[in-house]
Amino acid sequence: MCGIVGYIGNKEAYPVLIKGLQRLEYRGYDSAGIALINGGTNIYKVKGKVKDLEESVKNKDISGTIGIGHTRWATHGEPNDVNAHPHMSENGIFTVIHNGIIENYSRLKSKLIDRGYSFKSETDTEVLANLIEHIYKVGNISAEIAVRLALTKVVGAYGLLVTCVDEKDQIIAARKGSPLVIGVGQGEYFFASDATPIIEYTNSVIYLNDNDVAIVTKDSLSLKTISNEKLLPKVQKLDLDIGEIEKGGYDHFMLKEIFEQSKSINDTFRGRLAIDNKDLILGGIHQVMPKLIDAKRIIIIGCGTSWHAGLVGEYLFEDLAKLPTEVEYASEFRYRKPVIYKEDIVIAISQSGETADTLAAIKLAKEAGATVIGICNVVGSSIPRETDAGVYTHAGPEIGVASTKAFTAQVTVLTMMALLLGRKRNVLGDEKFLKLLNELSQVPDKIAEILEQSDDIKQVSKLYSDAPNFLYLGRGYLFPVALEGALKLKEISYIHAEGYPAAEMKHGPIALIDEKMPVVVIATKDKSYEKIVSNIQEVKARKGVVIAVVTKGDSVIRGMADYVLEVPDSHAVVSPLLTVVPLQLLSYYIAVLRDCNVDQPRNLAKSVTVE
Ligand code: GLU
Repeated sequence: MCGIVGYIGNKEAYPVLIKGLQRLEYRGYDSAGIALINGGTNIYKVKGKVKDLEESVKNKDISGTIGIGHTRWATHGEPNDVNAHPHMSENGIFTVIHNGIIENYSRLKSKLIDRGYSFKSETDTEVLANLIEHIYKVGNISAEIAVRLALTKVVGAYGLLVTCVDEKDQIIAARKGSPLVIGVGQGEYFFASDATPIIEYTNSVIYLNDNDVAIVTKDSLSLKTISNEKLLPKVQKLDLDIGEIEKGGYDHFMLKEIFEQSKSINDTFRGRLAIDNKDLILGGIHQVMPKLIDAKRIIIIGCGTSWHAGLVGEYLFEDLAKLPTEVEYASEFRYRKPVIYKEDIVIAISQSGETADTLAAIKLAKEAGATVIGICNVVGSSIPRETDAGVYTHAGPEIGVASTKAFTAQVTVLTMMALLLGRKRNVLGDEKFLKLLNELSQVPDKIAEILEQSDDIKQVSKLYSDAPNFLYLGRGYLFPVALEGALKLKEISYIHAEGYPAAEMKHGPIALIDEKMPVVVIATKDKSYEKIVSNIQEVKARKGVVIAVVTKGDSVIRGMADYVLEVPDSHAVVSPLLTVVPLQLLSYYIAVLRDCNVDQPRNLAKSVTVE
């Protein structure tokens, strides 16, 4: 949450900042601002989107070869012009942009007020700006020392860029808990919350670690810890193609990402699914395989869509590897004194690899001695660095705030892990293992077939775009898909939607059903097929509208449901990967019809770096 961008070099900073903020806008979009250093410091900031910021600086002085910019997802203080970043310290000495939360801001603020400071905004960030200034003035020290000392007094998370009027030719960057990447150019440096604003200028980057502070001029970068220990910057090469972060002719990133799923799942397989050798290779968990084989329990932790992927994982690990599995919301797990054994395997799932609650849960699991495995999409992010082992999903950058291809890539990784474990734990025989490998390998083609029906799904969406509520039902492997379908609709169309295991319907939700209530039933052919057919009849008996996701050629449900969306026949184990796709499209088309901002839904942001 919150996008940070910065530039120092010989070019004009403004275009770099604006383009960078547009690329990072998925991280927060309630206000945006920039500071440009050109003799003095010019700050422009507005409530709204980056385009509103661009509008507001017309005819203003936007010159300067050093600058910092921010796109905000408010945590402290409502989104308005004053609370927008950058924040300047009271005497104008320091300018700060910040991603994260200063948890002890209130205590620090009172102390600063006692020392005569006053505050313009309600943010925690302005407290930090004034704290740095106070320490700087009292200590008569350099900007860098003031920043480092201030950070020792701070509890919380931050990705920070700081400029100082007395040391105009430098930007100070620091991180703890929130991501920060520095792009290394020729006589110039770029700063950003992730690599997407940097890739068009350079593919050499330095990922800051927690407690790192970088002091950067256009010609030099020195890296140290908050406590002043010198560090050697590790320059890495980015493996990111600029085309991956453009819309590529689609109306929205979300639609592009839904349509990319055949390819992204193939990318998740690449080098791993070795059908010809009847093998699966997951190099990232190879070294912990003995622990996985002997494990008594898996605990999966995640938030939002990743938690739903985890629920699919629970069915997979118990079904294919006979391994008891629990799935936990990271936010609950971390605060409720969970019982964790050294023999436990904890799998943390996060698209961004930066989810604050998941990171905190990982720390807890590690302290308890468990083996922690990450499933993340963003290479080089925090979770892969915190975990003992892991598997990247390789779905490519996901820019739409509502997750689609990251979900199917996570489920693909979990399916591969469960198959591999089932094999190694001698639960799956050769024949079944190979059959399921084949099933998995066919998923990309089957998704391509589903995507061909997008026009039909669009037609169905037109009929229900005004519905105030939706119910989603599924059983077994398809119950988490019902939850995910409901979440997609809520997130982007603001229609209230709930997912339930189909059999739970009669324990409450059935009371909601009437002729105005669309019920999406995911009912492909598996062992609970007959049961879910009965559930459909129960809905129809109460005049509910049934939109069913069925196996191609299913005439029984076609005869009962109001609308059917077909998916190709498949084994139940891979059915979540197929059935979620029509639900993603249904939500997308409904949201477009309702004129919602699909890629940047209200109140949400991607990469939830605050708890
Ligand atoms: N806490 C800061 C604010 O509210 C930054 C928020 C964030 O990074 O999400 O302005």
